[in-house]
Amino acid sequence: MTANLLDYDLEGLAAFCERLGEKRFRATQLFRWIHQKGAVEFDEMSDLAKSLREKLKTAAHVQALPVLSQHISADGTIKWLFDVGGGNAIETVFIPEDDRGTLCISSQAGCAVACRFCSTGHQGFSRNLTVAEIVAQLWFAEHFLRKHLKQSERVISNVVMMGMGEPMQNYSALVPSLRVMLDDHAYGLSRRRVTVSTSGVVPMIDRLGSDCPVALAVSLHAPNDVLRDDLVPLNRKYPIAELLEACKRYLTVAPRDFITFEYCMLDGVNDTPAHAAELVKLVHPVAGERAWSKFNLIPFNPFPASGLLRSSQSAVLAFSKILSDAGIVTTVRKTRGDDIDAACGQLAGDVRDRTNIQARISKRRTIIITPENELTPKGREDIVND
Ligand code: SF4
Repeated sequence: MTANLLDYDLEGLAAFCERLGEKRFRATQLFRWIHQKGAVEFDEMSDLAKSLREKLKTAAHVQALPVLSQHISADGTIKWLFDVGGGNAIETVFIPEDDRGTLCISSQAGCAVACRFCSTGHQGFSRNLTVAEIVAQLWFAEHFLRKHLKQSERVISNVVMMGMGEPMQNYSALVPSLRVMLDDHAYGLSRRRVTVSTSGVVPMIDRLGSDCPVALAVSLHAPNDVLRDDLVPLNRKYPIAELLEACKRYLTVAPRDFITFEYCMLDGVNDTPAHAAELVKLVHPVAGERAWSKFNLIPFNPFPASGLLRSSQSAVLAFSKILSDAGIVTTVRKTRGDDIDAACGQLAGDVRDRTNIQARISKRRTIIITPENELTPKGREDIVND
């Protein structure tokens, strides 16, 4: 088996070059050819010594992911379905805007967190993606778009790790992948323009802060633990108070001076004025603190298995106003690519589930949480241990 060079950040590629008996600086040249020029053939790499090119041909390859399908939305959003083998397929979405091009990247085939409002969560989990599989999504999209838009300059200016999967549960592949995105010899993206989105894996938020701080988005979706336990099951392990403390610690090293909170608006579930008021209390700066949160309200994209409905526009606007009036910067996400199922929460790919997710989700949905029967600590433990 030869090595797929998309699997390495610059440090890893330097170590690979050393193993071939080459100087470490050769890695920089190789890295530029692969990521900046999109080269896959070593013979194209004209400033590498012929002897090195010959060695590379026997020891390495540059292998992108096979594209199973491509859909282009009326609004210009593009969704690709990539084959990652074993019956699994993942989705990647490009969202063009006037002042930026954003790529939404997947980190896992499926997801084990099983959020109730998320198509990926309902598909279950198969496996973590490798560094090569994460980076290949950016590599393919960038060079495909440059070619088709006849652009020699960078097309993708922003990356959001918000596709399929919980990136923090694939941490060992996440960090080298981020390093490739940020490296000036590869894509040279600004830390402020690379966002990791998490449902709240507290220990990994701290690790990311010391290993590779980039912008952070947290999928909050509820203003209290009772509701969040139901919508985002990981909350039973890392409740809201712990999560918010981790966010505040992250802010000390983050490239932005705020954390973005994602909040999917679910009709009658989390979208009332009372929920908004509860949120304000949760994130309102205490005396001496500056505002540190931004809210992104996401119109839910309904799918039958969720049993959930999209909030009315008036409910979203009223909710947004309560947050804004309290001094919290709040935006309502524009729905993009929903005609090709590429909108937020719609990515489903094709996953060979190994987690029996449907049974777990239906079991959860039989537990009806109301203020009257708020789960006891014991009840919470039972669910965590499912
Ligand atoms: S919202 Fe994110 S963490 Fe939750 S199930 Fe979907 S992909 Fe996983």
